[in-house]
Amino acid sequence: MKDFLINSIYRASEGEGVNIGTSQVFVRFQGCAVGCLNCDSMDTWDFDPSTVMSLNEVMAAVEYQGRMGSIKRVSITGGDPLHPKHTPRVLELAKELKAKGYWINIEAAGTRVVDELFDLIDFISFDFKTPSTGVATNPQLIRRVLEQYGNRSQIKSVIENKADFSAALMAHQWVLENTDIFLTPWVLTPAYNLNEEFPQQRFQDIIKWNEESGAPFRVIGQQHKWIFGPDKKQV
Ligand code: SF4
Repeated sequence: MKDFLINSIYRASEGEGVNIGTSQVFVRFQGCAVGCLNCDSMDTWDFDPSTVMSLNEVMAAVEYQGRMGSIKRVSITGGDPLHPKHTPRVLELAKELKAKGYWINIEAAGTRVVDELFDLIDFISFDFKTPSTGVATNPQLIRRVLEQYGNRSQIKSVIENKADFSAALMAHQWVLENTDIFLTPWVLTPAYNLNEEFPQQRFQDIIKWNEESGAPFRVIGQQHKWIFGPDKKQV
């Protein structure tokens, strides 16, 4: 049955976060209702029924893109793969991938924790949304991810300006005060917006603010945007 809404399936290096530089196959689901103001993938927002694939077709594309199964790492992303319209399909896909020996990352928008799925997944990248996104993340969800999945996750925040940095810092401090063990990396991703020149000053500012605050974060840019430009897709 063709009921997977898929934007694209392609091989590329992980461009951001603690697994940066690792080759993997990206399965990008089509459809997101989160509505980040600075989203760089607005083409993935529509729940477009013309993009459907079957589980077999998705698995065949993953294997083909992974050089006939020699690259056994998959990142499930979107869109929002944790939207309730997608999660039953993502769960099916994750079970099939695990049965075939794949390592799986999921890109979670910070809006929900799906235990049945997270229990299967090898690595969870969970967003804490900052003010420039226009979306709020409940810090209780961050705490839940850290407590249940802290040894195989990262928290990730896009930073556009000082207000974003301050919001991430406040959330980090709240989590420190309310969580027993907190060793999970919290990554700041300096914004590099569509049609923008490389924002060197923003990177330098964020590194400086982090150091002035005792360096609670790791600052990691999106290297695919340096290499291919901020507008290029499927890289
Ligand atoms: S969750 Fe991701 S795809 Fe959805 S609007 Fe935000 S950045 Fe864009």
